[in-house]
Amino acid sequence: MANALRVNAAEVLRRPGTEKRFDLRVALADLEIIGDERFPEGADVEVHLRLESLSDAIVVDGRLLVPWHGTCRRCLVETGGILECVVRELYQRTLTDPEAFELEGDQLDLQPVVREILLLDTPSTPLCRPDCAGLCPTCGTNRNEDPCACAAPPTDQRWDGLAGLKDLLPPD
Ligand SMILES: [Zn+2]
Ligand SMILES: [Zn+2]
Repeated sequence: MANALRVNAAEVLRRPGTEKRFDLRVALADLEIIGDERFPEGADVEVHLRLESLSDAIVVDGRLLVPWHGTCRRCLVETGGILECVVRELYQRTLTDPEAFELEGDQLDLQPVVREILLLDTPSTPLCRPDCAGLCPTCGTNRNEDPCACAAPPTDQRWDGLAGLKDLLPPD
């Protein structure tokens, strides 16, 4: 199938300052992301990229929007939404920037980069919210919904260790 994320780099590099925009939807299956449970089945990624040519390099920046879902690692509630991934990559004919990718041949294929960013940025052990209070270890209540009446959270165990050590020391 046609790869909508392939660019003729030679043509772009010939005229420094050239800008090319990609605003399209790509099926995750076309990025060879198949059976990954973090994404709803049959989902698309929204690709908004801007490609700019310098004399010997191409800068690609923009963002990707992808629906995702998962189970909160603290409270086990279903969570998810639309993930926004920031893209900023540099492709060089002659590598001088250690972060850059090498531009080989006349084709610049953005598909592997989009795929890699999605796989890396999508959380595998998500939180439903940054301050999720989790489940009570004693009664199992979801503390986001109900601050149950169980004992106060245990003290920081690093200090418990120190306290124990103190007990071992002979009294002054
Ligand atoms: Zn949670
Ligand atoms: Zn409880």
